[in-house]
Amino acid sequence: MNAEMAVRPLTAKDRFRFACHKGLSCFTACCANLQLVLTPYDIIRLKNRLGLTSEEFLEKYTTTSSDKSYGFPVISLKMNSDTKKTCPFVSPDGCTVYEDRPGACRSYPLGRAASKVREKERSDEFFFIIREPHCLGFNESKEWIIEDWIADQGLDEYNRMNDFFMDIVTGPHIKRLKHLSLSQMKMFSMGCYNIDEFKKFVFQSSFLNRFEVDPDQARRIQTDDVELMRFATQWLRFALFGEQTFSLRPRQPA
Ligand code: SF4
Ligand code: SF4
Repeated sequence: MNAEMAVRPLTAKDRFRFACHKGLSCFTACCANLQLVLTPYDIIRLKNRLGLTSEEFLEKYTTTSSDKSYGFPVISLKMNSDTKKTCPFVSPDGCTVYEDRPGACRSYPLGRAASKVREKERSDEFFFIIREPHCLGFNESKEWIIEDWIADQGLDEYNRMNDFFMDIVTGPHIKRLKHLSLSQMKMFSMGCYNIDEFKKFVFQSSFLNRFEVDPDQARRIQTDDVELMRFATQWLRFALFGEQTFSLRPRQPA
């Protein structure tokens, strides 16, 4: 992608001019040839939208890369093999998964840089504008305050959910992620991306006999993928980084 970013970091109260609609000649031009990285929450929204298991979704719609600078597997949406490398979800009328489109698609042209401080409920964040040369949306007269754009695009929920992932892949964990064993890496992939497999790991193994899990929470994670995603984050902090987010059950007398 050939994008320019505004150098000045922006706050939620700053403004920008932009509108995207079907009447523009560039309509859907941006839905092709993308390196569209998916977060765990993106995957849950899309696989449920499509009525697929996470395994089926990952197999059919994604590619995995292992970037050395990240040190952990990164999942991207697999573009079609046509000459333009179009997104599998684009149609002449726009995005066919619009209500569940990934956070990156919602956010454009706004970029967000965030760092999670464990003690704080919310991340520290600032914003910037990504200006694609082919995007005619910047010529439109509609003006947005950044916080209104975030609300309009349903981004608050995505940002909140993505912060659970940020909690694992930023801060003190960055260094540790680069030294995970193969089995830890598999655990990372399952806990972050393959949530239906993770559910089997919890409910079809000795997991609930070995670890203290509140019965109400056990019921919630059985039916709610987002609760399960949050639970998986806690588990990964225990299993990969040795944090005390889980307790072993006392051994039963023989
Ligand atoms: S290129 Fe810009 S204005 Fe055109 S469809 Fe994409 S986001 Fe909208
Ligand atoms: S998911 Fe939707 S909005 Fe995002 S690139 Fe694909 S078609 Fe475009």
